[in-house]
Amino acid sequence: MAKEKIILTGDRPTGRLHIGHYVGSLRRRVELQNSGLYDKTFIFIADAQALTDNMDNPEKVRQNVIEVALDYLACGLDPTKSTIFIQSQIPELCELSFYYMDLVTVSRLQRNPTVKTEIQMRNFETSIPVGFFTYPISQAADITAFKATTVPVGEDQEPMIEQAREIVRRFNHIYGETLVEPEILLPDNAACLRLPGTDGKAKMSKSLGNCIYLSDSADEVTKKIKSMYTDPNHIRVEDPGQIEGNTVFTYLDAFCRPEHFERYWNDYANLAELKAHYQRGGLGDMKVKKFLTAIMQEELEPIRTRRKEFEQDIPAIYDMLKKGCEVAREQAAQTLDEVRRAMKINYFDDAELIAEQARKFKAE
Ligand code: ATP
Ligand code: MG
Repeated sequence: MAKEKIILTGDRPTGRLHIGHYVGSLRRRVELQNSGLYDKTFIFIADAQALTDNMDNPEKVRQNVIEVALDYLACGLDPTKSTIFIQSQIPELCELSFYYMDLVTVSRLQRNPTVKTEIQMRNFETSIPVGFFTYPISQAADITAFKATTVPVGEDQEPMIEQAREIVRRFNHIYGETLVEPEILLPDNAACLRLPGTDGKAKMSKSLGNCIYLSDSADEVTKKIKSMYTDPNHIRVEDPGQIEGNTVFTYLDAFCRPEHFERYWNDYANLAELKAHYQRGGLGDMKVKKFLTAIMQEELEPIRTRRKEFEQDIPAIYDMLKKGCEVAREQAAQTLDEVRRAMKINYFDDAELIAEQARKFKAE
């Protein structure tokens, strides 16, 4: 049988989802889900992972589970096509992590560049929670439990997928071919790999408060774009402006399509022409921001409207998640079974082992 093609990815319920999530992973997931090219799609809300750096604030995590689920549905993830579930409800993942911990060294974890940056960001210094430090291992469990072949994520997740691949190779080498090596699927548009925050900081992130949320009202979006970081040296309209590191242009790279010029700004044929004018000088930030606002509103309006509809029946969403957890758990339990068998810790199912031991002791 040909290997099944399986998608898996998720988000931490540490806040509502933002446009960085959208361009980095969410938009792609919906396309993949609807493409018919994959046998299964698993999408999960990583509450257990969120607790690794929010252990003292479980209420935040609990409140945001439903927010993330609403954002999923609003963007077009469809529970009839994708299994949407909550990480903590799948205890099999803990057991897998426990075995994988034997396959990874402390120094290997210390070298993980994303974990390094995140430790700095959170000011953990020397008091790093062990659970946080080892979250790449638990992420490997999340991925392999569902035999995922394809993981659509943003660039910051690259070291995690590499870590998961190493664990798979090591496991299979020691215990025999059991786990599936996942492939990362990065956005093909460079601006979407790691969308910067509205403050110009390297990454839009829930933890940094520099986000445009998918559920922000039209007014909030307009306000946030108005005060966005651009080129600090572009003071007068006549001044030549810089595109590189100019967040407004990065967002245009991520969202602007040629038809947007026809609809909202027919002075230019495309983004290249607009950029050239800005670089020459004579084009003010406010005009560019107005254009970006029109594009963002067009993209976000349908998401906002759908979210409002789903908000009308919250119990139905918990119900959907519960069903997703049941399906996910079945799959994870099957993989765990195979893992235990490969590791030879399935004593009671192993009639041969019992018979062999019996013979051995009789002979003595
Ligand atoms: P936190 O600050 O709690 O870590 P986050 O905003 O980084 O939250 P995650 O839940 O860690 O969000 O990430 C979920 C997914 O979204 C991952 O695939 C990640 O790569 C992607 N992602 C997050 N932020 C961005 C961004 N700014 N640009 C592109 N992709 C992103
Ligand atoms: Mg993150």
